[in-house]
Order: sequence, then C-alpha cells, then structure tokens
Amino acid sequence: MRYIDRKRLQLPDGWLDRAAIATKHVSNGGDPSDHAGVWRELKDGLADLFNDKCWYCEVPITRSDNAVDHFRPKGRVSDAALEHIGYRWLAFEQSNFRYACTFCNSRRKDVEGGTAGGKGDRFPLLDESQRVYTFGSVAEERPILLDPCEVGDWRLLGCKKENGKPCAVGNEIEQCTRAESSIEIYHLHHEPTCKLRHTAAVQLLSDIEEAKGLFTAAESDAAHSPAFKNAAARILKAIHVDSPFSGEMRFLLGGERDLNHPWVQELLET
Ligand SMILES: [Zn+2]
Repeated sequence: MRYIDRKRLQLPDGWLDRAAIATKHVSNGGDPSDHAGVWRELKDGLADLFNDKCWYCEVPITRSDNAVDHFRPKGRVSDAALEHIGYRWLAFEQSNFRYACTFCNSRRKDVEGGTAGGKGDRFPLLDESQRVYTFGSVAEERPILLDPCEVGDWRLLGCKKENGKPCAVGNEIEQCTRAESSIEIYHLHHEPTCKLRHTAAVQLLSDIEEAKGLFTAAESDAAHSPAFKNAAARILKAIHVDSPFSGEMRFLLGGERDLNHPWVQELLET
C-alpha cells in the first residue's frame, strides 16, 4: 500500500452535476446502484492514479477485472452495532472511491491456501459509538481499515522477507490492530498474492546484497561504481510508487539500513 493523492483525479465534463442528481435520487429513497454508471465513469481515472494497481494490495490488475470500491460501503454495513443500510449519501462522493481488485474488494474464501477475506460489507471502527447512520459528516469516525488516501496509513504495513506474508509494522496496539484487521479484511494474506510479493522481495534482497558488495568494492576500486549504480537503479525501481508491492519493498529496504551503506537511506529519501 502507498499513499494516493486522490485530489489529482480529473473529472469528466459534467460529472459533478450527474453525481449531484444521483445523490438527490438516493436521498429521496432511491437505490445507489440505479446510478452505478456515475461512479464507473471514474474507474479509468482512478486506475491512472496508481499505474493500474489495486490501491489496497498493489497488484497490477487489468481494468476489466477491477472495481470502484466504496471505502464506506454504499450498502449494508455488517460491522455496525445497529442495522446500517449503508453510507448511501456517500455513494457518489468521489472522496469515498478507491480502486480495488476482486480479491480485496469481494468476500471470498481460498480453500487451498486456507485463507478468507475481501472487504465486501465490512467497515469496522475503532469506536463504534461514533458510527454515523444517516446523512451527515463522518469526520468523527475512526476507521480500523488502513486507507491508502490517508497520508501515514500505508507505513503500518510491511511483509516478511522469508515468505512475502504481510505483517503489521507499528509499535502501538492500535496501529497493530488496524494493520492486522486490514490484512484480513483486504485479504492481503491471500496465498497467490503472498507468492507474488515474495518473488518481488527475493529479487529486491538479491539486488541489495549485490549493491552492498559492489559499494564496498567501489570504495577501493572505482571500476565497480557503474555496476553499483545499476544495482541501485533496480532497487529504486522496485520501491517506486508505480511498481507492484512498492510499499512492502520500501519496508524491506528500510530493514537493510546500515552505517556502512548510507546509500540505502539515500534511496529511501529519493
Ligand atoms: Zn487488491
């Protein structure tokens, strides 16, 4: 996961007017799905913001296999203490849109891998008493789910270098709770995804090891410098926001900081 500045999204001509009409229809008791075309209009624009990757898991996805996810569900909310028919008033609010793959977005079970997950109608809060049920501001709600549109949330997720499984990074209980719940609800521990993440991690760690050797060698013999720069460029690409699992790759690179290798920190700051 990485931070995504959704304010960069360019809207099609007249979209705000169409969204306002749809919102009015819903406020009069209409079904948000009757106007699904309104949020689907933004799908390609949302995909462009993150190089066609799912905003939650960073897996590259073809546009036909994905969806505009409503961060706050537009339909029933299963985590609500009372019956909740959905944040229907946010169904056409662009700040509520995320771009997600089927595994993160839809509830499903992976029998072979022994995992289950997918957001579906889930939206737990840290303090359920702050839950908003009817038209109004949700500013006081504190979501448990990590949000790629919140500046610091993505930094609470990392992965294990030995198998690519996602893990919580924070030290505080609340941070860990949020990360662990997000791993389960977004199905980030889905076995095929872990395998892809692990493949990326193995390549990254191999490049880091090579770069460290070349950096040390270049200190006494400048002839190694070009090869070091090539390895560093590969590492930089792996942690670039356009690359798959770039958040987790940044986390793994952060674990390789070393006083003898200041370039690691320099790459992280690039
Ligand atoms: Zn995903």
